[in-house]
Amino acid sequence: MDGMIQLDDMDCEFKEEILSRVPGANLDLCFTCGTCTGGCPASEQFGMDPRKFLRMLLLGMDDEVKQSPWAWVCTMCARCKTVCPMEIDIPKMIYNVRGSWPREKRPKGILGSCDQHIRTGNAMGVPSEDFAWTVEDVAEEIRNEHPGFENLQASVDRVGAVMALNQNSREPVTEPDEMGPLLKILHIAGVDWTYPTVMWGGENYCMFLADDEGWRYITEEFVYHIEHNLGCKVVINTE
Ligand code: SF4
Ligand code: SF4
Repeated sequence: MDGMIQLDDMDCEFKEEILSRVPGANLDLCFTCGTCTGGCPASEQFGMDPRKFLRMLLLGMDDEVKQSPWAWVCTMCARCKTVCPMEIDIPKMIYNVRGSWPREKRPKGILGSCDQHIRTGNAMGVPSEDFAWTVEDVAEEIRNEHPGFENLQASVDRVGAVMALNQNSREPVTEPDEMGPLLKILHIAGVDWTYPTVMWGGENYCMFLADDEGWRYITEEFVYHIEHNLGCKVVINTE
């Protein structure tokens, strides 16, 4: 029709960029049912929700999409993708929006935690020897004060253990007792396990930062250590 803007005429550069990075993404199939928005914990934050965000992207509102702080309040829970009748991968779209931000402009808290993890092996910056000390301290307290667990063992970097277990680094610092229940479960189950001291933090702020390189570096260092140095066959990611 004369005078009307046709969708095909609209400039959707950022959408095309995302489609080039996410092969098979089916963003155009959205029929605005709103199911994604209904279960999204980030809906209405900054006046935004996943359906609206996707519509803006499809309509070529590139600057608004790229600059919206909403991309950073998404939890990456993937509820939206799970319930979407068209299986649209909204978290991956949001991940790419985050990746379009200059690294230094991304939220300081997430950025700092990612950098800390790359530098020290965990987001809290806990030295490996302090982590090892805390693990043994928690185990000793359980042995001494919890009847039935007198023989509980918790090791760090034990070569030949079948299973490697990572650990959210906040617990050894702020709530070391919270580590106890898992140690007890592993003991009762008779699991042959150990904590690694390389990249032992189970959290993954580089993923939330959309820092592919940092994420890859952390994962590769972790895998190399448990495979080549410890010989573990199984990994349990506790996060
Ligand atoms: S659930 Fe899927 S189809 Fe429905 S509005 Fe959300 S993205 Fe679009
Ligand atoms: S992944 Fe993000 S957009 Fe999707 S439901 Fe979770 S918080 Fe909402």
